[in-house]
Amino acid sequence: MNYYSTPIARLIDEFSKLPGIGRKTAQRLAFYIINMPIEEAELLSQSIVDAKKNIKYCKICTNLTDKDICDICSDKRRDSSIICVVEDPRDVVAMEKTKEFHGYYHVLQGVISPLDGIGPDDIKLKELLARLNTDEVKEVILATNPNIEGEATAMYISKLLKPMGIKVSRIAYGIPVGGDLEYADEVTLSKALEGRREL
Ligand SMILES: [Zn+2]
Repeated sequence: MNYYSTPIARLIDEFSKLPGIGRKTAQRLAFYIINMPIEEAELLSQSIVDAKKNIKYCKICTNLTDKDICDICSDKRRDSSIICVVEDPRDVVAMEKTKEFHGYYHVLQGVISPLDGIGPDDIKLKELLARLNTDEVKEVILATNPNIEGEATAMYISKLLKPMGIKVSRIAYGIPVGGDLEYADEVTLSKALEGRREL
């Protein structure tokens, strides 16, 4: 028994395939769209299709871009001796916002996760190794997330790179700025101790 007419049911089905969208939210979004002016609905559907059609991987860093070579890789003023390896394009944005990093990036587009069937060949690792063979890279910063998969991926990459004579570093862990030692969990606190630096 269908409670909704087919076009609405289909819209709800499509929304509920999205991450973090349950059935209720999918219904709310579907009805929001039904009540939209047609021009707005067209803009929305067109922007989805445009993004899908025009976004590709940068030929150098495998970040998402609408060009062959992304804006960061095209910027010759950056420091070509250092590459920061991140999991996903959002991490590049986060790093850029700090204005502290002036090298280039490499976006893995995922992490190694054997439980999910994701191995080294399923992320953009070959592309990183190819860059290191040709470029004058002196240091690679591994900025994958500090969770099990991110950690395992960083270890895997560091083992590959060390014999190549490249300095490999890992971002530090620690207490968030504005945080309170009292409320930090033991793992974070012990990692912060481990990663202490001289002042
Ligand atoms: Zn790029």
